[in-house]
Amino acid sequence: MALFGRKHFNLLNSKKKDIPAGLWTQCKDCSATIYKKELVDNLSVCPKCGYHFALNARERIDLLIDLGTFKERDQDLVSVDPLKFKGPKTYKEKLHSDQKSTGLRDAVISGEGNINGRPVMIAVTDSRFIMGSMGSVVGERITRAIESATDKRIPVIIVSGSGGGARMYEGVFSLMQMAKTCSALARHNEAGLLHISCLTNPTMAGIMASFAGVGDIIMAEPRALIGFTGPRVIEQTIRQKLPAGFQQSEFLLEHGLIDMIVDRKDLKARIFQVIDYTGMTPTAATAPASDPVPPPETPDNS
Ligand SMILES: [Zn+2]
Repeated sequence: MALFGRKHFNLLNSKKKDIPAGLWTQCKDCSATIYKKELVDNLSVCPKCGYHFALNARERIDLLIDLGTFKERDQDLVSVDPLKFKGPKTYKEKLHSDQKSTGLRDAVISGEGNINGRPVMIAVTDSRFIMGSMGSVVGERITRAIESATDKRIPVIIVSGSGGGARMYEGVFSLMQMAKTCSALARHNEAGLLHISCLTNPTMAGIMASFAGVGDIIMAEPRALIGFTGPRVIEQTIRQKLPAGFQQSEFLLEHGLIDMIVDRKDLKARIFQVIDYTGMTPTAATAPASDPVPPPETPDNS
């Protein structure tokens, strides 16, 4: 006779522990199941294969700009509906729904902040808002950011995360933003000032064909999709198979379209390194508070 009774487990009396929904996600590249907290701690980079998940504009600013130094500009600008566009959704409805889901006014955040104590002007597009497409507000905010950087004689950093190019809801008004942003960058360049373009997944179409493609230094995150037209459309047009990795950062670096590929964890340090190397130091008027001028010496009367 057995000394202890044996408890029987079966499917009926064992309680299944449910994994709470939303704690895990799957890598879009290697399909690994990743604990979401681990992903966030790793700057949204897959710990298994290094795939860079998209960051939104606020997360990108938190990543690059010194804590507490960012001052947003022109946040009151909102799109109007010049064409009274009607489709499955009107433009006004689309704007409203994306404003609600993202908390943004439009597909860009721009403002001034410091990178390791150096003042810069920064603009970041957000692919969640109508694919990050360049409507009038995106073009105007980026142009104002560039012009302000020129006036203050500080570098401008533009981070692109836009799968869309022109915003069809605004027709020709959207196309004009390409020329407008590039004109402002040309004046910035004539003033001898620095523009760093940072390309993230995806940077396509009218964004890549304007401000994103004309940086003094163009950096890209690994394996980002970068190009003008999507690979499928090109294949259908030229009736040829495209090479492997076509329109990815690594292919573009090899063919001279971009200057460097930088892992997300190194991005801030690398941008700072370029600013430092090019001697883009702040003017006295914009010098950060961390670099105080010593007070004049007073005679010792004691
Ligand atoms: Zn992965």
